[in-house]
Amino acid sequence: MSIYPLDKHEDILEVRECVLTGTKVIFSTERSRRPIEYAVGQRRAPADACPFCPGHEHETPPEISRRPSGESAQWNMRVVPNKFPALRREPAGARKNGELCPTMPGVGSHEVIIETPDHHRKFQDFSVSEIRDALSVYRERLNAMRETGGIRYTQIFKNHGPESGASLAHEHTQVLGLPTVPERVTRELERARTHFQKIR
Ligand SMILES: [Zn+2]
Repeated sequence: MSIYPLDKHEDILEVRECVLTGTKVIFSTERSRRPIEYAVGQRRAPADACPFCPGHEHETPPEISRRPSGESAQWNMRVVPNKFPALRREPAGARKNGELCPTMPGVGSHEVIIETPDHHRKFQDFSVSEIRDALSVYRERLNAMRETGGIRYTQIFKNHGPESGASLAHEHTQVLGLPTVPERVTRELERARTHFQKIR
């Protein structure tokens, strides 16, 4: 019996639930097909083939938004769907009770915020107004996801450098919208509520 039917060469995008602990895990084979820009042990990656650089806009999925808005070729920030998503709005498949674990389609959202057109400019080098603009876009995307049906938890994160799991050197942040609230977050909220009631 094949537990993971990868031999069929089909992409799998689903959420699997551990029957023993109830923990849910996102399972996305598409993520493994991401191009890795960094060579092994390399900290700086070249700009020539970067899909996040100006002139390569066609290499990302259709843009969600940009700043400044409009058709101008000049942009300071772009928001695009992740080309290799951990979750997507309309994944194929249905909830099923497999032999090993129950699974459900990987419904959610996975976006990328490209915070600068400059391939070599890092977040720590941003001016205060550039950081303010980035935070404003983060808030905009969180609010947009809040209004999207089916998303119950959002997370913004940045992988910095190859050791953290970043596959592209160009500065960017990811926004993930999940169909469920992670168990750990639920537990933290419950404990915080209990603690707050105790000290009131
Ligand atoms: Zn770049």
